[in-house]
Amino acid sequence: MAKFTLSTTQKNKSVLLPKGFSYIIDKTTIDKTYWKCEHARKLKCKGRVHTDYINTTLLYENDNHNHSDNEVSIEIRIFEGKVRDRAINRNETTQAVIDNCLTNLSDYAVARLPDFKHIKRNIQNRHEQNDLSKISHDKTFNRIPNKLATTKRNTTFLQYDSGPDND
Ligand SMILES: [Zn+2]
Repeated sequence: MAKFTLSTTQKNKSVLLPKGFSYIIDKTTIDKTYWKCEHARKLKCKGRVHTDYINTTLLYENDNHNHSDNEVSIEIRIFEGKVRDRAINRNETTQAVIDNCLTNLSDYAVARLPDFKHIKRNIQNRHEQNDLSKISHDKTFNRIPNKLATTKRNTTFLQYDSGPDND
C-alpha cells in the first residue's frame, strides 16, 4: 500500500483510502496519526495503518482485514470527496467540477456513479452555500443570489431590490 488518498467524508471527517479499504482516525499524537479500519467496530476488523502527523507517509500497515476490499466503491468515495472539495474551494462551473473529477476514474467506477443529476444538484447546493457565506460579509451584492430569491418550494419571489434608499 504505497499509494493512498486522503479524503473527507460527507460529515467532513478525514478518511484514508488506500486501494480497496477505508480508514478513519483512531487517535493522533504529536508525530503520528493512527487510523483504524472503518469496519473496526462493526466487524471487529483489525486493519490498522499509521501515518506521520501530516498524513503523507505510511509508517505502518496491518492489512489483515476480516472482510473483502472494494476497489470500486473506494474509487467512488474518492470521486465524491474531490467533487465536494472543488465545489467548495474552486470557482468552477458545475460541469467543470464533474469533468475534472472524472479524470482517472475507471470505467467500472464511472458505471457505478450515482445519477449525474444528483451529483450536479449537490454541487449546486454547495455553490449556493458559498454564495450565502459571502453575503454576510458583503451587503452590496449586485446580483441577488438565487438562494435568497427562491422560496422553499423553489418559486422565484425576489427579483429586484432597489437598495436601501428607495424603499
Ligand atoms: Zn477492515
